[in-house]
Amino acid sequence: MNIKDIIAKKRDGKVLNKEEISYFIKGYTNGNITDYQASALIMAIYINGLNMEETKDLTLEMAESGEILDLSEISTNVIDKHSTGGVGDKITLVLMPIIASLGIPVAKMSGRGLGFTGGTIDKLESIPGYQTSISIEKFIESVKNIGIALIGQTGNLAPADKKIYALRDSINCVSSMPLIASSIMSKKIAAGANKIVLEVTCGSGAFMKTKEDAIKISGIMKEIGRLAGRETICIITNMDEPAGYAIGNSLEMIETIECLKGNVPTDIKEIITTIGSYMIKFAGLGDNLEENKLKILENVNNGKAYNKFLELVQNQNGDIEYIKNTDKFEKAKYIIPVKCREDGYVSSINAEEVGKISVNLGAGRVKKEDDIDLAVGIVLNKKVADKVKQGEILAFIYANDEEKGNIAVSDLLDTYKISKEPISKEPIILGIV
Ligand code: URA
Repeated sequence: MNIKDIIAKKRDGKVLNKEEISYFIKGYTNGNITDYQASALIMAIYINGLNMEETKDLTLEMAESGEILDLSEISTNVIDKHSTGGVGDKITLVLMPIIASLGIPVAKMSGRGLGFTGGTIDKLESIPGYQTSISIEKFIESVKNIGIALIGQTGNLAPADKKIYALRDSINCVSSMPLIASSIMSKKIAAGANKIVLEVTCGSGAFMKTKEDAIKISGIMKEIGRLAGRETICIITNMDEPAGYAIGNSLEMIETIECLKGNVPTDIKEIITTIGSYMIKFAGLGDNLEENKLKILENVNNGKAYNKFLELVQNQNGDIEYIKNTDKFEKAKYIIPVKCREDGYVSSINAEEVGKISVNLGAGRVKKEDDIDLAVGIVLNKKVADKVKQGEILAFIYANDEEKGNIAVSDLLDTYKISKEPISKEPIILGIV
């Protein structure tokens, strides 16, 4: 077997067998297969797709490319959560401390920015000192001691996904259903959860643009979960505009901290309470979803979730003074208002374009080895259905380069559509699969 034949087979639209998928994953993980060969195969998969059998084989092979954790010493019932990603998506950062504060162990492995979406790990690294890469021993110890650990694809957990994830980002091969499904499920299987709650985002700021696609990928991930013996549920959320108000790494961290202090925007509130209510149910702590939602809000309002976040940050060596006083986060040099050109109502904000503007300001990577600028991004002031007047501020651009900042202003104006008639908001939760 050799990689050139495997690339040619997928390039020509044929089905790969288990041995070929295994050969690719093992060879790419150990460095025998080069980045350019892996890029060619990933592009061929992106164009020609994978069937269910191939997707399952790819997922399990990636999960088995490193260690598969056994967390049964922590709990016989470990629940994990993951999102297919979206613009301004800080749900993990807000929700996981809440879940841990309710006594449900959180052992979570997250990713970096991907395509036009940000990544939880990049956002966490905006807290000076926060270690996203810790040993597996410390990861498990942390969950045992304080009930939560939030890490990147560290050491030996699904290392194949770590490499392919970064590659997909740099060759623009992110929005492929089999690649997203296998990436997410391989991480979840490797990290040892036995029950998995997935947020499947849908709309302009997500990789799945339509509800049909969101339902389809949910079915794929549920099936992989079933084959791997992990109960899986998918919650489809509306990502037709950015989640919350902030887009960009430290800006989203500041919004996360505000949420944990009780100032939660409506869309984020609905998403965290819905996903959280299923996590509580999966943990065996309550079947009544409405009561579970109240438990989530209670631990935000009584400060327990915020305190758990402080514990998490401290335990992973982050400077908690930044959490206590968010003015300490490094500010971008230029904060430029974006002003509305007409009176009316915001009818839509193209979230994918907003994500791309944030990447162009420096918040995301073009090449996989690029450094990112943690301070830049966008803070929205108006969202869909808001009434606006000419000259009112729609958003602020945070830039460290004046020219890029000015380009971002005009690009952002184009993402806003204004209607003369009032607009009613679409629902945030679109379905449960
Ligand atoms: N999240 C992941 O972990 N992988 C993807 O491919 C997309 C979102």
